[in-house]
Amino acid sequence: MSEIRVELPCKYCGEVFSIFVREAAERRGKIMCPVCGRMHEYKLADISKIAAGTH
Ligand SMILES: [Zn+2]
Repeated sequence: MSEIRVELPCKYCGEVFSIFVREAAERRGKIMCPVCGRMHEYKLADISKIAAGTH
């Protein structure tokens, strides 16, 4: 369950990157875009919802 990856679109540069749900939870939804380096704050509920939708 925790090894599920979710794909998140960057709000700034538009790149889509993937992250483990577990990793997102550890960072409390604060995820840095690997492309432009800007910080995003996602709600963990939203990340779980995306993860659930991929299966
Ligand atoms: Zn970006």
